[in-house]
Amino acid sequence: MITLKSARELGLMREAGRLVAESHAIAREMIRPGTVTGDIDSAIDAFLARQGATPLFKGFPGPVPFPASTCISVNQQIVHGVPGAWTLKEGDIVSLDVGVRLNGWCGDAAWTYAVGEVDDEKRKLMAAGRHLLHRAAHLCGQKQLWSQVATEMMRDAKKLGVSLVRRFVGHGIGREMHEEPQVPNFFDASMNLPDFSLNPGLVLAIEPMVNAGKPDVRILHDKWTAVTADGRPSVHYEHTVAITKDGPVLLTEGVGEPFDPREAPALPL
Ligand code: MG
Repeated sequence: MITLKSARELGLMREAGRLVAESHAIAREMIRPGTVTGDIDSAIDAFLARQGATPLFKGFPGPVPFPASTCISVNQQIVHGVPGAWTLKEGDIVSLDVGVRLNGWCGDAAWTYAVGEVDDEKRKLMAAGRHLLHRAAHLCGQKQLWSQVATEMMRDAKKLGVSLVRRFVGHGIGREMHEEPQVPNFFDASMNLPDFSLNPGLVLAIEPMVNAGKPDVRILHDKWTAVTADGRPSVHYEHTVAITKDGPVLLTEGVGEPFDPREAPALPL
């Protein structure tokens, strides 16, 4: 069942979103050559504990419970990277995903950061990923159905020469991190996911995962880390987006660059 949120509930979700944004700010300060990904995770875990907030990925059920508070995925890692002994180096890209519950309400956002100077392939891929997230958030205020948004995301991905991962999808969010509906970054007649209407009060974690090469995914032996099957780089951008009478708003504003989803983003060509 899809639950719509009241203005008061959106305010509470915005508070959780603020802690997600502050967690990203901590990471942004730490991301440089020589930083160990496990140290970024520890810093955010300590920050959330001080705030009385719960990190939602820690212990998340799977083949083994997720062992950290954040997902940190480097280069060809797509999502669900396990922070640990990996040392960042110049030219890496690092995707950080943080989900938080505060006072019973959740926020969830991911962003891909450059470590120093990155090559052209990664730079263009990052621009494409940011665009696809911003365009999807904008279109939530323009279209009636999610399938229409996902169709435009696929069109733009094609124009930008990148591929959208199909193995993982976005999600509704509220009291739980993962609520109905599922929010795929693609749409075609063969899929078995139901479409849904973009009504005021709906809150979605929109999260395109975008590969420079093919969309195929492989899972590493840690049972979590998803990597590109072709070894080419991948990026992940996610905001918690509320649809309101006045248009879409970002409840995780402050993650990534400033963006007003009521305005149409230009294709980064
Ligand atoms: Mg998410």
